[in-house]
Amino acid sequence: MSTRATAAPADQLTVRRSNLSLVLTHLRDAGPRSRARVASDTGLNKATVSSLVAELIDRGLVGEGEVQRVGNVGRPGQTVGLAPGGVVGVGVEVNADFVDVTALDLTHEVVLSRRHPADIRALGEQRSIELLVRCLDDAVVALGDSGCSVVGVTVAVPALVDSLRGRVALAPNLGWTGTALAEQLDTALAHHGIRVQLDNDANLGAIAEHAVGVARDVDDLVYLAGEVGVGCGVIVGGRLVRGASGFTGEIGHAPLNHRLEVCGCGRVGCWETQVGLGVLLTGCARGPDDPVLDTYADIDARLELVLARAADGDPDTLDTLERVGIALGLGASVLVNIVNPRALVLGGYFAALEHHLRPYVVHTLLERVVAPEAGGVEVRASQLGFTAASRGGAVVALQSVFADPTRVPVTA
Ligand SMILES: [Zn+2]
Repeated sequence: MSTRATAAPADQLTVRRSNLSLVLTHLRDAGPRSRARVASDTGLNKATVSSLVAELIDRGLVGEGEVQRVGNVGRPGQTVGLAPGGVVGVGVEVNADFVDVTALDLTHEVVLSRRHPADIRALGEQRSIELLVRCLDDAVVALGDSGCSVVGVTVAVPALVDSLRGRVALAPNLGWTGTALAEQLDTALAHHGIRVQLDNDANLGAIAEHAVGVARDVDDLVYLAGEVGVGCGVIVGGRLVRGASGFTGEIGHAPLNHRLEVCGCGRVGCWETQVGLGVLLTGCARGPDDPVLDTYADIDARLELVLARAADGDPDTLDTLERVGIALGLGASVLVNIVNPRALVLGGYFAALEHHLRPYVVHTLLERVVAPEAGGVEVRASQLGFTAASRGGAVVALQSVFADPTRVPVTA
């Protein structure tokens, strides 16, 4: 057989796959519209678009919607849009206090959201991974029962993550080092036929805010993940900044605390010894048995308690919020001086306590950022709470389908 005979169909398949991706991604970014409108938006001809849309419908990725007229002439067309339900991506965050699972469909609607409080450091690495497997297995089964098929899983870890090799290089607040997490999860979940990838929690938080959160309208942002550890995800020009080895964003370990307290990483004076969740909760606690320190209680409920005490004018709580707020502003000003983002998104517990922390942060930014008006940065509170990283994981899992819709088999 001549190579020339096989080259043309292979090229045609590549072009078709790329056009399927173009149409599906356009429907995600521009919303439902008629086939004629898709053709004029993308520059593809109408017959090609009809054929591509038919295939996307057969793969369960696109559905028909309402009838819509384009301009004043011609027949009205039926709109097509991303199919809700059905194909889903799953994100899981494992953090010091919890495992959070979120599944999003192609329209980025939440189809499953579960949080399991857990003391991950106390459980140890192997039992934590077993818990992670149980949480994932339960979620995939529940999604299957409700007619959804999972296209991929992304796990968020508060760690230096080697995404390419699927390894957790170092997670100081979990006590993990050199963990081949993706491989272990792939093996444990092989019966579901699902591939697992890993990323840093703050990177995925930034991706979530840019895709579905409060930073959808900007392409330059810093997302600050306020959890037991503190890290940031940086998006510049619409792209996540990873750095030479993938370890960008470890601001939590910048030496900003002159009191030289010992950090989870073993160094002294790291920023997170002033602004980490543990510091906040310890500062607000009335003793070692205070419910705000109960790692088996849901984190949102514990933060509600902090808010209630602040509303009652509890002096220890208000002093702690002021101390954390000023320190948060100082670290944020370092980031804003370096990155000059349009938006600084406060995530995790920083968002839950935004009402108290924001005035200190804004004041400090105006004082410490050398550019006039702090370089035009807007401080925004995440509305995704502690689900930001898991949502970002689900967004990333879905990206494989937008890049290549033929990954989803024809079902019609
Ligand atoms: Zn540190």
